Amino acid sequence: MTNRGLKSRIVTANVGSFRVTGLDVAVASLNRVMAEFRRADPVAFASVGTAGMLCARLVRGSQKSVSNHAWGTAIDLTFDGEVDPRGDGKVQAGLVRAYRYFHAEGWYWGAGFSREDAMHFELAEETVRRLLGS
Ligand SMILES: [Zn+2]
Repeated sequence: MTNRGLKSRIVTANVGSFRVTGLDVAVASLNRVMAEFRRADPVAFASVGTAGMLCARLVRGSQKSVSNHAWGTAIDLTFDGEVDPRGDGKVQAGLVRAYRYFHAEGWYWGAGFSREDAMHFELAEETVRRLLGS
């Protein structure tokens, strides 16, 4: 990451069962998501992990669209250490159990993308603007 204004807002924190690095308001939001997930569904929560949050890159398969991972406002989840295969039209049970807590905090779920990416959750732009107060 080379943008100094953005870089100054990147934090690393434990969000329950793993550590993430991302935009401060996104990490705080994710912490609320994970706290509620843990409270409401401790069995599924016990299996959750991550395949990454902040990563300065383009959308997979794109030449020009910047991934929300590049802003630190998206996260990829794993369950039992397994990545959900992209584009197979199937979703891990743990992701189905987790998504409602993300929706409640204003995150989109990649299961609804034109090419299914079920392990992916990203903060809606309107949510980021609201959290930043802009
Ligand atoms: Zn992702």
